[in-house]
Amino acid sequence: ASRIAEQLALSMANLRLMRRMENQAMTDPLTGLVNARFFDPLVEKELAAARRDGQPVGVLMLDLDKFKDFNDTHGHPAGDEALRSFARTVRGTLRESDTAARYGGEEFAVLLRNTDLASARTVAEKMRAAIELTPIEIGPNRFARISASIGVAASDAHGTDRMQLMRLADGALYQAKGSGRNTVRTAPAVDLGDG
Ligand code: GH3
Ligand code: MG
Ligand code: MG
Repeated sequence: ASRIAEQLALSMANLRLMRRMENQAMTDPLTGLVNARFFDPLVEKELAAARRDGQPVGVLMLDLDKFKDFNDTHGHPAGDEALRSFARTVRGTLRESDTAARYGGEEFAVLLRNTDLASARTVAEKMRAAIELTPIEIGPNRFARISASIGVAASDAHGTDRMQLMRLADGALYQAKGSGRNTVRTAPAVDLGDG
């Protein structure tokens, strides 16, 4: 019995270790957000569900504005703090069922469950305002501000193909940058060809 107990304890420890390694592989250590490797399959799964039950799925692409200047002005550690603060603000704007990911250096993506284009736009605007209003502590009693540009797409207007949806959200983000940054842009509706 004691040998079985020993074996069991060993398997449990292995299982815990495996879980922790899996967790580390899909989490960005700086922000605690999931990475693209976790995010993309999750979006695929949600879009498959959307195709089955017709629940809309929204996608946001976010990019910090003039972040190179922020680093140059305040230093890289302050930039890291800005990214952590940004992630907290984004998470604070989301529901439990939504998922935010660090997609690249200062690029982020958000999956909004059961959210159509109009609601996704509202969430994005709330997020944009919260980011702009949240001071970043860059030293003892020293604060700085950041802003972000956001592109919005959603399955009800743009279909359930992940690549297309994310490409359209990214295009809208590019539009937001072009119209002066710190703003939200929605991707133009596409012909979904299903009447
Ligand atoms: P834009 O408004 O057009 O997006 O301008 P930008 O300066 O934000 O864009 P650009 O792509 O030129 O610069 C991105 C910057 O993000 C440069 C890079 O040093 C910084 N960055 C990326 N990852 C990190 C990080 O992990 N920490 C810090 N501190 N900075 C990072
Ligand atoms: Mg960028
Ligand atoms: Mg940027």
